[in-house]
Amino acid sequence: MSQINVLMYHQVGKFKNITTHKATYCDVGRFRSQLGLMKMYGYKSVTLDDIYLYLSGKKEIPEKSVVLTFDDGYENFYEYAFPALQEYGFSAIVYLVAGKIGDKADWLEKDGHFPAQLMSVQQIRELKKYGILFGSHGYDHLRLTQQEYYVAKNDIEKSKKVLEDLLGEEVKHFCYPYGDHNIEIMKITQEAGYLTGVTCERSSITQDIDPLAIPRKAVSFGDSILGFAWKLFFKNKPKRKLLSLYQEEKDSK
Ligand SMILES: [Zn+2]
Repeated sequence: MSQINVLMYHQVGKFKNITTHKATYCDVGRFRSQLGLMKMYGYKSVTLDDIYLYLSGKKEIPEKSVVLTFDDGYENFYEYAFPALQEYGFSAIVYLVAGKIGDKADWLEKDGHFPAQLMSVQQIRELKKYGILFGSHGYDHLRLTQQEYYVAKNDIEKSKKVLEDLLGEEVKHFCYPYGDHNIEIMKITQEAGYLTGVTCERSSITQDIDPLAIPRKAVSFGDSILGFAWKLFFKNKPKRKLLSLYQEEKDSK
């Protein structure tokens, strides 16, 4: 089974009493331990360009490759996640909501969550100088499959253009807000000129995966370092294999 992983994070920082949407928060101390563990096991950052070439059969990448993805573009990425990434030698891609740069993540309010601050243009440009990559997370953070065709198309295309103007480079990677996508949305994304689209479906990366529906493993607030290691190493083995592993362990005792 493949050990190539795309990991999904949202907010990294210091949080209290997170009881809902746990997969969108990660304590910075735990985040550092997770990076430390990956470093110890020889994992290296690759880019989504590398993953795209791998899925297209044009490039081989090492077995222990990882892409760290951060949705929404929170200011706490700048404050907490980035320094930790620098320290442990990992890179990342941050998916920005093009219409909300420097604004608040107001869509969180609907779920009763604090509308956290999103990064400013200046912060984004500074991170770019340090090799952080940016992708599009749409213009208005919409559930794309629930929109009229032209609303979805406009959101996907407009966000690309706005971010390209801001960054001064091509934006090639898209992240479906809420992981919400279908064949039609994937097609619009491809036609808009994106190479990849990431989802919230959980799996490691194998060569049969569609570049417009790349699965990711969400790292949750509740993941201890053991839980994280389990997710990283084993979480997508077919159930039967898991059972037989468990059986072997039991038998050897
Ligand atoms: Zn989002």
